[in-house]
Amino acid sequence: MSRRVPRSSNRPEPLPDRPGAGGGRLRFCPACYEINAWEAASCSRCSAPLETPRDYDARLVWALEHPDGGTAVRAAGVLAAREKSLAIEPLGRMSQRTDDQYRAAAAVRALSAFADDPVAAAYLDAARSHPSVIVRRAAAEDAGAA
Ligand SMILES: [Zn+2]
Repeated sequence: MSRRVPRSSNRPEPLPDRPGAGGGRLRFCPACYEINAWEAASCSRCSAPLETPRDYDARLVWALEHPDGGTAVRAAGVLAAREKSLAIEPLGRMSQRTDDQYRAAAAVRALSAFADDPVAAAYLDAARSHPSVIVRRAAAEDAGAA
């Protein structure tokens, strides 16, 4: 059950201490990725307005930096399938991450969908000397397929 804080006279309703504890929807701040209650108009951490980008591809690109790695990996896969060239630079940056090798490897696999593009090819090249063997292997798979 969602625990609702009673609304007091003229103050804005405070965020619940556990947003979504009762199954309520949540959303991530587009600027800092803080989790906010769906109803909130601005981010509780950075005050940015909570408007998700409306364009589907822009939302996918945004999700590449999502704090949840699984979400980022799925977004990379969808962007690769859609072959949207706007994804190349963000995927390239993702492929260079060293804090999450699975995320970087997913970016490399997604970039291989754009291997004809010189920018994507340069990122794929760079991935062959990534510190993580998982990422290097993903880049080698691409070279093997070409
Ligand atoms: Zn924020």
